[in-house]
Amino acid sequence: MIELKNIKKIYRQGSIEVPALRGVDLKIERGEFVAIMGHSGSGKSTLLQILGLLDKPTSGQHHFLNQDIPHLKEDALAELRAEEIGFVFQQFHLLSRTSALDNVSLPLIYQRQAKRQLDPKTVLERVGLGTRIHHLPNELSGGQQQRVAIARALIRNPNLILADEPTGNLDSASGREIMTLFQELNRQGITIILVTHEPSIADYANRIIKVQDGWICSDETKNQIAAEKVSEKITSATSAPPSPTHKMLQLLHTQLRQAGRALLANKLRTCLSTLGIVIGVGAVVAMLALGRGAQKSVKDQLSGLGSNRITIRPNVQYVGGVRLQIGSVSRLTLNEVRSIQQSIPEVKVVVPIVRSRAQVVFGNKNSNTEIVGTTPDYVEIYSVKPQYGRFFTLEQDANRERVALLGSTVVRELFVDQNPIGQMIKINRISFRVIGILPTKGTTGPRDEDDMIIIPLQTAMRRLIGKLYLDSIDVAAADSSVVDQAQNSILELSRTWPKTPNSEGDSYRVDNLASVQEAFSAIARVLSIILAAIAGISLVVGGIGIMNIMLVSVTERTREIGLRKAIGARNFDILSQILIESVMLCFAGGLVGIGLGWVLILIAAKVTGWTLSISFASILLACGFSATIGIIFGLWPARVASLKHPIEALRYE
Ligand code: ADP
Ligand code: MG
Repeated sequence: MIELKNIKKIYRQGSIEVPALRGVDLKIERGEFVAIMGHSGSGKSTLLQILGLLDKPTSGQHHFLNQDIPHLKEDALAELRAEEIGFVFQQFHLLSRTSALDNVSLPLIYQRQAKRQLDPKTVLERVGLGTRIHHLPNELSGGQQQRVAIARALIRNPNLILADEPTGNLDSASGREIMTLFQELNRQGITIILVTHEPSIADYANRIIKVQDGWICSDETKNQIAAEKVSEKITSATSAPPSPTHKMLQLLHTQLRQAGRALLANKLRTCLSTLGIVIGVGAVVAMLALGRGAQKSVKDQLSGLGSNRITIRPNVQYVGGVRLQIGSVSRLTLNEVRSIQQSIPEVKVVVPIVRSRAQVVFGNKNSNTEIVGTTPDYVEIYSVKPQYGRFFTLEQDANRERVALLGSTVVRELFVDQNPIGQMIKINRISFRVIGILPTKGTTGPRDEDDMIIIPLQTAMRRLIGKLYLDSIDVAAADSSVVDQAQNSILELSRTWPKTPNSEGDSYRVDNLASVQEAFSAIARVLSIILAAIAGISLVVGGIGIMNIMLVSVTERTREIGLRKAIGARNFDILSQILIESVMLCFAGGLVGIGLGWVLILIAAKVTGWTLSISFASILLACGFSATIGIIFGLWPARVASLKHPIEALRYE
């Protein structure tokens, strides 16, 4: 069954070399019961670890079940350990917080080949613990714990059981019980190799090998093994071989349960470590809702302002790279107003506008106000049908009459209790008669739309401001579907208008509210990007927190990982276990984060007055995000865990 030839093992610690085995030759047949004896430090454990495929010799030949062990890959070794070998350790190495039954079942999840397995309950009954299957290790005595460990070694119906000082931590009565159990197992055909330094324990074996300073110094066989018993392995109570898919699902299910248990074991730590993810996901969810809310609110406000309006203004101009003052040469006049009216059919109304600020006085009150000079069509474009009184007529404009319409802010500032209609006010010391009051418009941004006086265009140009040119021409398209077309036609037309010689680019700019809307959207986009960056950063920070805690938890569970590898877990099994745990952690954080985001959205909706809602897409995004973070930041700890050396991990304190 086992053949060792000239096996040497040298431990290296820095520059010091410790030879533990100096050339061991050994042959063990099926069905033997071997005790390895020797003083402490003689190399017994080292030998057993090599026999158990847990450690590799420095040199020498090793055959196990006709396989050339030094040439096998790690996963193949893990599989051999899983299929053929059962381990029993001096320190039992049971998983705490895990029932006897689950401890015994543990090796099953790492068994790949659908081989015959024993039923955990039956095995526990066989070792005399049939009534204690749901007890935790700390509710069992040392002898009972070791029996659970033996049951765990038996569960996969192994051909070989290795035990390193299995009675070392037990009183002599329990020791005797355990040894009787081993003897019985041996009689059923299982090969048993155990390490002990007590002669009374070694007496149970058929063959005693003594080791001294890394050499085998004696090898005695007491009595011949009854050959007919070799084949008579336990075949009772085996369960049907599970299918590979079923195996995978079983592994996943077990790993999910283990991950859940590991996370619940440290509730406070679990909560704290997910905090970063919670905040990050909450921020992402709230940010998405706020971004959409803001965009919608801007859109609503802008569409209320009339989206079929187009404004034409002189453009900033450059001559030879030098910036000229706006309107320095390219100037808008009534000629341009007429040319638009005549040549662009999509246009409904064209309104010339001049603007200025002026000092307005009534009685002993005064105010500095924006003066707008325009034509009666302004009413239609800006929907400012007077609240009281009436607008001026084309005639009044042509006659340059001094009449004015006041915005409500101006009314409030100048008039206390009087009716302003018919009163005479002074604008820049020129008398105007108030003929109407404009409807209240409210504010857009920092600008008070009601702090304004409208007077006839000709009056403004010739009498008040003394400007011969227009500040802008405002145009209303026939309806919102032709706005773009009208805008393009006007831009084309504007290129035929007078312009600064040698200037670069267009002399006039033609805007509509859609472009303002676009500008707002661009701002909203930038804001979203900034918020997304903040959310992203907090997710990364959260992820680092997760990685940190997973590393700690991997270190804490070094011995558990060592045990899992010793009983046949492959690197991938360990990797996936830690990854599942980290994804579960992040996912839980993500769910709480969605809740937090929802609360934030409720608060934001109260504060801003917007209608905000959490979208299904953002929930999906948050879930995807947190799972991804779990994978990315769990990968390193998982890798660290999976690469641990079984023996070193088991020895970890
Ligand atoms: P035993 O089990 O017979 O007490 P071991 O096989 O554990 O002895 O150890 C044999 C020798 O190898 C001892 O001198 C021990 O100090 C040394 N040794 C064992 N394990 C290591 C290790 N991981 N690193 C360095 N030296 C080791
Ligand atoms: Mg030892």
